This record gives sequence, structure tokens and C-alpha cells, in this order.
Amino acid sequence: MTPVEGQVVGEPQLLPEPKRLGVLSRLAPEPMKVVLNWGRRYSLWVFNFGLACCAIEFIAASMARHDFIRLGVIPFAPGPRQADLMIVSGTVTDKMAPAVKRLYEQMPEPKYVISFGACSNCGGPYWDSYSVTKGVDQIIPVDVYVPGCPPRPEALLQGILKLQEKIARESLAERYAGTSPSVAQLTSDLVKGPGA
Ligand code: SF4
Repeated sequence: MTPVEGQVVGEPQLLPEPKRLGVLSRLAPEPMKVVLNWGRRYSLWVFNFGLACCAIEFIAASMARHDFIRLGVIPFAPGPRQADLMIVSGTVTDKMAPAVKRLYEQMPEPKYVISFGACSNCGGPYWDSYSVTKGVDQIIPVDVYVPGCPPRPEALLQGILKLQEKIARESLAERYAGTSPSVAQLTSDLVKGPGA
């Protein structure tokens, strides 16, 4: 196989993810699409990527006091292949970033990401560290950002509601057409790591 420009010879390359749209999502009349989006927004199985202190706030949001299951969010998917929603909570380091990206790629479409807390939004208090990624959106697209250091569990509930509003308005045909640039594409040139 001829190497593509920029590809390191011998390095394994991930194949592009197939963009498949079920016949129901593609051809169904609008009321049916509303029902499909309704089902999607209230059955979000979460793959929690807890990396630091913010993960404790995520866990608190899943417990009885805040109880995000009442919003249709099911905590702790056994792995990325079962999950619909990845919540990145904590400091993403450059060493961990490839693992975050790989696990995101293993999630089936349609999939969503909430960046929970200042560290995963932009590096947080460690924004000038040599080893910290300046926001998880440098490597994967993010749907909702929750600010704070740490954000309270109520802030995560608000973020989940915002994501559900977004899913309710979503057209899967447009999502898979890839006409709009991802957040990662939009920001990749804006924030450079030290020495870049
Ligand atoms: S945003 Fe603050 S609380 Fe959250 S992981 Fe970073 S340092 Fe910890």
C-alpha cells in the first residue's frame, strides 16, 4: 500500500470510521425522527473517563442525591463499545490522550462527548504544564463543555440537559454528511502546546 502524505511508514493507521445511517433515520418521516431522537436523548449510556478530582463530582452526580438516572442517563457502561456518551472528567495528559482518542473511536455512532471541568476543557490550572493536553477537544470532538474547578454535580446535570436539547434538534443525516467542522478541527490551530 502506498503511504499517504504525512504517514510514518510502518506505523499502524486507523481506518476511517464507516459512516452508516440506518434506513429509519434516513427515510423516516419527521414525526418518526422526533421519536428516534427522543429515544436517543433519554437512553444515554455513559462511559466515564475519570482522570482526576472532577471524576469524584461525576460519581456524586450518579449517586442517589443528584441521581442523573432520572434524566435517562445510565452510569458506568462496561466499555466504550456499549456507550453512547463519554464524559471526560479530569486532567488529560499528553500521555493519556492517545488512550482517550482510541476509546472514543471504539464507541459506536451516534456518540457524544461532555468535557467536564476546567482541566478537560482547556488544561485548567495546569494549562502551562509541559505534559498536559490543552483541552480534550484537541483530540476528539466535544458536544458540551461544563466549566468549573471542580464543577458541582448540578453543573453536570445542566450539561446533560443541554446535550439532550442538542440531540432532540439533531439530524443524523447532517451529522453523517460531515458538512460542519468538528470542534477539534476548529480549535486545533488555535492552541499550541509549549514549544509548538
Ligand atoms: S478542573 Fe480542578 S477539580 Fe477538575 S480535575 Fe482539574 S484541578 Fe481537579
